[in-house]
Amino acid sequence: MVSIIKQISNYNYEDGNNVQYIVCHFTGNSNDSAQGNANYFNACDREASAHYFVDDNVIYQVVEDFNASWHCGDGNGAYGISNYNSIGIEMCGTNGDISEKTAKNARDLIRLLMNKYGVPIDRVVRHYDASRKNCPSPFSCNNWTRWADFKDKIVNEVEEEEMKIRAFSRTWYLSQYQDVAKNGIDPYQHYLAYGKKEGRQPLPPIPTGYTDSGYLICNPDVAAAVNKGIFVSGLDHYYEFGWREGRKFTYSLVDAMPQSEIDTKVKAMVEQLKKQVNDIENLVK
Ligand SMILES: [Zn+2]
Repeated sequence: MVSIIKQISNYNYEDGNNVQYIVCHFTGNSNDSAQGNANYFNACDREASAHYFVDDNVIYQVVEDFNASWHCGDGNGAYGISNYNSIGIEMCGTNGDISEKTAKNARDLIRLLMNKYGVPIDRVVRHYDASRKNCPSPFSCNNWTRWADFKDKIVNEVEEEEMKIRAFSRTWYLSQYQDVAKNGIDPYQHYLAYGKKEGRQPLPPIPTGYTDSGYLICNPDVAAAVNKGIFVSGLDHYYEFGWREGRKFTYSLVDAMPQSEIDTKVKAMVEQLKKQVNDIENLVK
C-alpha cells in the first residue's frame, strides 16, 4: 500500500476516541491532495477535520486514532455514529470525482484499520450513515451502487489477504525482527507496509531435504490437522510452528512403520534367533 505520512495537527481534534466505526467521506473538491489537506488542517482551527486524507499517491494522517476528529458531528450521534467512536477518512477529488486509485488506497487503509481495531465490515460506513449528508457523493449514484461495490471489494480483499497469510509466518517474522515485536504492530500489516520493501523475509527458509510427505509421516498430529483443514499443507504448519519446534521431516522405513508393527517384527526376530540358538545347542548335544 502507499505510505501513510503522519502530520499530526495541534488543532481540530478533541482528546479520546473509542474506535467502533470507520466513516468514509469525499472532500468535495475538484482536485485536491492529501498533503494539501494536511497542511490546511495543520495551520489553524478549521472547525472541521478528519483523521486521514487519501489521494492517488499517499495518505496523510492529521489526527491520532485515539483522539476524536470533527468529521461527522453534523449527525449529533443520531444514528449511533459520532466523532467519539469513529475514524474519519476523507477521499480527495480528481476532476470532481473519486478516482479508482484513491478508492483503492482508501480500501487498503480501511482494511488496516479494521484489522487494528477489530472493526467489522458492517461498521465501515458512509458519512451518510452518520448524518444523512450526501457523502461520499461520487458513490451515491444509482442508489449508492458504487458504495456497495466499494464494500464488496473490501470483503474480497480481506479474503485474499487471509489466503496470503498462509504464505506469511507471524512467529518467524516476530522472532526475526525484534523491532516489529517491540513496536506491537500487527506483523503481517508491517510486512505489507514496510517489510516487503525493506527486503525482510516473510517465511523461514525451507531446510534441505524437506518434503511434505516426509514431514507428515514424521508428524502424525500435523497430518491429522491438515486432514481437518486446519493447515493447507505440512509446509503451512512448518512455516508457522514446525521451524521452531525442531520437528523431523526425513524418515527411514522404520519411522514410517507404526510402533505396533515394529513390536511385532522385533518379537518375530527374537523368536527366530531363539530358535536358531536352540537348533545350534541341539546340534552340539
Ligand atoms: Zn463527509
